Amino acid sequence: MTTVDVVLPVPVDQTYTYGVPTEMRDTVDIGHRVLVPFGKRRLTGVVASEGPDPESVDFALKDILDVLDERPACSEEMLRLTKWIANYYVCSWGEAIKAALPSGINVKSTHRLRRTEEPPGQWVEHEQAGPLLADLEGRDDTTLSAIRKRLGTTVPLGLVRRLAAEGILEVNTQLSDARVSAKTATYVRFSAAFQHPSAAADLVEQLRGSKQKALIEALAGFREEGTPEPLRTDLLERAEASHSSLNSLVDKGMVETVEKEVVRSPLDDLPDPGPAPDHTLHPSQQEAYDAVARAVEDQSYQTFLLHGITGSGKTEVYIAALKDVLAQGRTGIILVPEIALTPQTVQRFRSHFGDTIAVLHSQMSMGERFDAWRQLRDGELSIAIGPRSAVLAPMDNLGLIVVDEEHESSYKQFDPAPRYHARDVAVMRAYLNDAVCVLGSATPSLESVMNAEWGKYTRLNMPERVPDSSGTSAELPNVEIVDLTLQKRKHQLEGALSEPLRAAIRARIDRGEQTILLQNRRGFAPVIECCDCGWAPLCRDCSVTMTVHKTRSGGRMLQCHYCGRTEPTMRACPSCNSQDLHQIGTGTQRVEDELNDVFPDAEVLRMDRDSTRKKHGHHKILSQFRNGADILLGTQMIAKGLDFSRVTLVGVVDADVGLLLPDFRAEERTFQLLTQVAGRAGRADLRGEVILQTRNPEHKALQFALDHDFDGFAASELEDRKILSYPPFGHLATVEFRGPKEARVERLAENWTKALRKHSASDVLIGDPSPASVKRVKKQFRYRTVLKSRQSQKHLQSALRRTEQSFGSVPNGYHVSIDVDAVGLL
Ligand code: ADP
Ligand code: ZN
Ligand code: ZN
Repeated sequence: MTTVDVVLPVPVDQTYTYGVPTEMRDTVDIGHRVLVPFGKRRLTGVVASEGPDPESVDFALKDILDVLDERPACSEEMLRLTKWIANYYVCSWGEAIKAALPSGINVKSTHRLRRTEEPPGQWVEHEQAGPLLADLEGRDDTTLSAIRKRLGTTVPLGLVRRLAAEGILEVNTQLSDARVSAKTATYVRFSAAFQHPSAAADLVEQLRGSKQKALIEALAGFREEGTPEPLRTDLLERAEASHSSLNSLVDKGMVETVEKEVVRSPLDDLPDPGPAPDHTLHPSQQEAYDAVARAVEDQSYQTFLLHGITGSGKTEVYIAALKDVLAQGRTGIILVPEIALTPQTVQRFRSHFGDTIAVLHSQMSMGERFDAWRQLRDGELSIAIGPRSAVLAPMDNLGLIVVDEEHESSYKQFDPAPRYHARDVAVMRAYLNDAVCVLGSATPSLESVMNAEWGKYTRLNMPERVPDSSGTSAELPNVEIVDLTLQKRKHQLEGALSEPLRAAIRARIDRGEQTILLQNRRGFAPVIECCDCGWAPLCRDCSVTMTVHKTRSGGRMLQCHYCGRTEPTMRACPSCNSQDLHQIGTGTQRVEDELNDVFPDAEVLRMDRDSTRKKHGHHKILSQFRNGADILLGTQMIAKGLDFSRVTLVGVVDADVGLLLPDFRAEERTFQLLTQVAGRAGRADLRGEVILQTRNPEHKALQFALDHDFDGFAASELEDRKILSYPPFGHLATVEFRGPKEARVERLAENWTKALRKHSASDVLIGDPSPASVKRVKKQFRYRTVLKSRQSQKHLQSALRRTEQSFGSVPNGYHVSIDVDAVGLL
């Protein structure tokens, strides 16, 4: 090849032509990564095709600088798939390819800057150079991107070069090959001089600051537990201290911080999965498997929607089909919503397929990720199991893609682009490969239900739980609704748990059975409010109230659930000075307190984002539950994939959480969550019971969940969707506008939407731009325009594409994000 067309990781919808120097002509091929000059930068791109005859090119052709691969990083199939993703989700091809390559594979240029001389006055005054020079003062060296982030403005590279030419700055441009740099974390330990165990006590004597004392004590505590170098985040959390307290200890030379590579993966702790059970499929499993197996045998594309109730044995069907695919010498991908939440599913695949599996997960270091990616690409491993991004695993010869819990919204990517839905990409990828796709769920998405109805997918049903050896199927649990309004009126409601729910839990504790309790809201109380004037603390950077959290020592603090900012609570209302502050509503921590009060003899576990933040958090809690703890309380994390035979009671503390969100899928989500969590009860010979507490007992999501009536719910909900032309009957996309100044965001949104109207076909309905329901997050204002089309997705895509091209770039610091098939209109 004398020229190549290269896809670059820039948000521009085109390929770029480069010349190939003679010495590289033999080594470059389609799918190879190449290093190219791009403006003042060097970028890594992927060769998409052979370029035009150099004679016919009417611009100055630049040459590629290097060929980075010996074997293609992107197969031709992956090029086709990513091209489809780019077209469908209206992003650039480069962005889609980037999602398919392991992070860290790309070579990027980094500019490191250092101030060398006292700058002359004219530069200090300069509008852009002034802040840059001030920022560099007193720093050893720093990267240009870090400076840009700190200053929140652009610092043109041209200006940097000019300052360098005048000798004021030193610029060092490096190619950072992140492939070799694995993920690191910061750990803390005592400095050499203070290592002796008695030194800690002396230090505590000497120090004045109570937070510094707490840090020393916590660090000594970790050491006693056999962890002399705890993670910095763990130490700060235990001592309830801030970075600045720790930094002053570092400055005093008492402790030091170390950066270490994070090598362990969450699976290291999983026990050997043991031998694979050899089940004989029961009749409805056999029927489902036969249908899938025929398609696998034919090696022709087909998508199945496997609707099997919780405990019907879907995983066994996946495993049987995967065995057939491997026997043909082909490969398979298994998508699960999140690895940490589905350890039992992962273990079952490992027990059958052992060493041929690559388990991909979010806590992998870059090195591990790259290794897994390479082994899959080279055919050393033939199965990938993982969350959303595993749908882009680089395997050849794909025979099967399974999407377990296909209704889960975590399959949709939000940021960055491509904002793809892994289920839909899975279907497309299967189609491109003459492969079979199986979408499994106990509560399929309404999109998939309709696709089956319309004949695009083949529906398979498994309406019964797996029968035991005597041939009887475990019955579905009995669901009961407790009306909280009524309970309150009868003065039977003291905390969050009603009398009937308390009695049911008590009975389980006494019989040595287990309870799962869902409260889908973390923290202690969602709001703290002044009883006298109604004041409530808002986050400084987001337009939401802060949530009350309980600290380890039993105190309270405030946390913003959108940006993570924490603040101490106040004793008195800052607005009217009243001391009458009321904590309103119920989070998991508050339920935990109540359980401990009411059932002092019970072992209670709490599983939510806060209690699982530490590594292996999920795993630890689940194994404690397996070892017989009485109650597992948690957010929606506990609703999926868990199979514990002694759980005979599932309680939903507040079934209304989520029901009233401004999202047309709110009811569908609630029905799914309730059905999924109810499915955790009574999976073996012990009959299960489910208690739903609610203030909306007549709500249809609850009423259908009461009867385990998925089809009834789907039919009723689909009717509503049809009237409003919401998916699956209409197509939907959103455009989000974001930036630091509200007036500018609003103006951008209006102008963009105006352009969008001009470029849209007549069946496209375009709403007016409006503030997102949480208007400001992390100091950024957000506006949103919603587009609908009754007829065709393509009409939305072409309008968006044309608008984006004609509108051109937006002001720096402002963003326009296109989200096709958006999920969650919050
Ligand atoms: P689902 O994924 O549909 O919730 P699972 O595949 O997890 O269901 O199956 C539920 C339970 O039944 C698991 O413990 C599994 O090992 C067991 N099981 C599944 N199929 C069979 C079978 N054919 N014979 C015996 N046990 C089975
Ligand atoms: Zn007040
Ligand atoms: Zn915030």
